[in-house]
Amino acid sequence: MGGAVRDYAADWDALSRSDPEVARAIADELNRERSTLRLIASENYASPAVLAAQASTMNNKYAEGYPGRRYYGGCEFVDVTETLAVERAKELFGAEHANVQPHAGAQANMAVYGAFLDPKDPSQKVLGLVLPHGGHLTHGSPVNFSGKWFSFIGYEVDKDSETIDMDRVRDLALQHRPRMILAGFTAYPRVIDFEAFRRVADEVEALFMVDASHFIGLVAGGAYPNPVPHADVVTFTTHKTLRGPRGAVILSRSEYAKAIDKAVFPMMQGGPLEHVIAAKAVCLHEAMQPEFAEYAWRVVRTARALAGGLAGAGLRVVSGGTDSHLALVDLQPIGMTGAEAEATCEEVGVALNKNAIPFDPLPPATASGIRVGTPGPATLGMDEPEMAEIAGIIGDVLRRPEDGAVKEDARGRVRSLMDRFPAYPG
Ligand SMILES: *Cc1c(COP(=O)(O)O)cnc(C)c1O
Repeated sequence: MGGAVRDYAADWDALSRSDPEVARAIADELNRERSTLRLIASENYASPAVLAAQASTMNNKYAEGYPGRRYYGGCEFVDVTETLAVERAKELFGAEHANVQPHAGAQANMAVYGAFLDPKDPSQKVLGLVLPHGGHLTHGSPVNFSGKWFSFIGYEVDKDSETIDMDRVRDLALQHRPRMILAGFTAYPRVIDFEAFRRVADEVEALFMVDASHFIGLVAGGAYPNPVPHADVVTFTTHKTLRGPRGAVILSRSEYAKAIDKAVFPMMQGGPLEHVIAAKAVCLHEAMQPEFAEYAWRVVRTARALAGGLAGAGLRVVSGGTDSHLALVDLQPIGMTGAEAEATCEEVGVALNKNAIPFDPLPPATASGIRVGTPGPATLGMDEPEMAEIAGIIGDVLRRPEDGAVKEDARGRVRSLMDRFPAYPG
């Protein structure tokens, strides 16, 4: 190991010489990440070790199949890294089986549906949270393969509490007799009652699937309930709270191992991305360290502090708070749309996204809310005092979006935060 490996793993000088246009854009992106406050709940900062594994010559290897049973020779070393990723995923989450090959969260979910559902049989239904209330595109949205090819029945959050009403989920399950019940969302701030979902699934003899993409890093650190003991299958992305490479993992009970593996390859994918799988192994190792638990708790603590600060600034926090890494914020009290808030915040160096709130009167392209998340700031080491400052900055610019002096001041405050908590220092 040493110099020779480093040259080939990620030779920045070679890229700058051979393709300055691409090199420039990559450098600009790094600079943007260093100067922008990242409150996008699905984004994070992968470690240099994760990035190095991804930028390695494992990129070059074809390895269709699974460790020990590949369709190509020369797989002895990618077998090492893929086996490490599988074993670490099983150990970290207490799972009986892990498939680390899905290229992304959407592919992982597609493989699970492929394993258990026949798209030609519309009587095989799936119960999932509707997109406007926090479900994901792959949970039955009509513009996605899930909604186009499979029969999804949508449940909603309760209008008053803005949380999931398990009685309503049970009623729908009894009415529709789904083959699968799906929990785990993309814009839902509260804890999910996995045991209650399991009971409903058992009552109607449905499979229980959890899409833990957003909160899996919190589970790894013990700061959010683990769905694995209750679910038949758990999918998750590795690049959100888990802070790894872009990609996904499927965990399951051993009785479903064969069906899941066959659905990932050869049903939905070809050759696995072994460089990305090596990086998944690295991020899972990082997630097993005590510092990662500290990070996970800091994520939740800071999300609560940020939500509280924004409420203090006159905004309405959906469901009254958060138990996770994100908060949904209703802008109707200040008469602004989500799209306007997103653009205004971007002007001062704060990256967040507009988001529909439950029962939103506006279409999704404008939306009445924003979604804010703290995985990024928590990785940089920010804590509760910084959240008070950030809530103050956001409150100031959103209340007076036309005031140039307020924006100039906000830009300076964001810059000084990012100077104190640098991304990729060095
Ligand atoms: C992000 C996300 C996905 C999709 O992941 P991609 O890697 O973007 O395909 C799926 N489900 C949920 C709940 C997510 O949050």
